[in-house]
Amino acid sequence: MTLSIAYSDKMKGYDFGPGHPFRGDRYARFMDLLRRMVSSADFEVVEPRYASDEELLLVHDREYLDFLRSGRAWAWSPGREFLSPDTPLQPGLEEAARLIVGAALTAAETAWRGGPAHAVGVGGGLHHARRDYGAGFCIYNDVAVCVRSLLENQGAKRILVVDTDAHAGDGTCHIFYQEPRVLFIDIHQDPRTLYPGTGFVREIGDGRGTGFTVNVPLPPGASDDAYEYVLDEIVRPLAEEFQPEMVIRNGGSDPHFADELTDLGLTLKGLKMVGAKVGAVAEAVCGGRLVDLVGSGYNQAVLAPGWLALVSGPTGPDLQLEEPFLFSLRTDHRLAETREVVKSVKETLKPYWRCFAG
Ligand SMILES: [Zn+2]
Repeated sequence: MTLSIAYSDKMKGYDFGPGHPFRGDRYARFMDLLRRMVSSADFEVVEPRYASDEELLLVHDREYLDFLRSGRAWAWSPGREFLSPDTPLQPGLEEAARLIVGAALTAAETAWRGGPAHAVGVGGGLHHARRDYGAGFCIYNDVAVCVRSLLENQGAKRILVVDTDAHAGDGTCHIFYQEPRVLFIDIHQDPRTLYPGTGFVREIGDGRGTGFTVNVPLPPGASDDAYEYVLDEIVRPLAEEFQPEMVIRNGGSDPHFADELTDLGLTLKGLKMVGAKVGAVAEAVCGGRLVDLVGSGYNQAVLAPGWLALVSGPTGPDLQLEEPFLFSLRTDHRLAETREVVKSVKETLKPYWRCFAG
């Protein structure tokens, strides 16, 4: 057994309704492909629990929780200050969100206790949610709840979060901006060209957390070799210096070149490489303890193979995933611009990290 997967059919309730890019059929699509492509001897499916109020309150406000459950949220209401219009609450969605947070917690506890060291929380990576505000299709921030729970309930001292979603993880960034126990490395499309418009190199944390937020904004079109360069030059050396006890990687298939909401350039092979490189980092620094949270993706043909590529990267079998839409693959990989970004990240962070000072 190499992989533990926290999944429940009830996750399908995390669905923003017809016409919205984020629908609830994504989870079952992934599980179907997984069961078709991977031998059942290589993974186990664990039924996740629901996150408790106590766990959600590690990150979110009581007032916000009460609002989400009040029924006011999906009626026309003056309560809009808690939710962005792109994140319209539906009946049953709050409950499904608690289950997705629970899946992240279940996966983290499995990996932490040495169950399979590599665990997956299906549906996770809801990184735009803030303490008291839901946006970008995210109402609870499972990444942040999972990290806080490891710190407060499991006795962890240092956690590395690698956010490989195409969008910057503004919610996670905000929540841990002053937290030196969490190294947050966020690789995303240049915020001048994509939602949420944050995640610039100069955003490096604040107070005791200064230097523990690392933003790597990539030019549109950045492809496999650009990602490989960032993982080797930024993620690996920082992880070796920080020495985390666990790595949490979040992000689904939206950095793929055929994604309909973004303009990055990863291939399926590239997504697998990202999974493999992050897995190798976890292997090198924390006994392979790795949690993958996969939820994003806005091209149905790429969604499930993209998630499978990511989670099979670290330990999985050699899957033959067929690349759809090869005709639209860009040949311009933007490696030269990415090298410049990496240079600027190192320059900005060298007062805080020996590995960048040389
Ligand atoms: Zn995204």
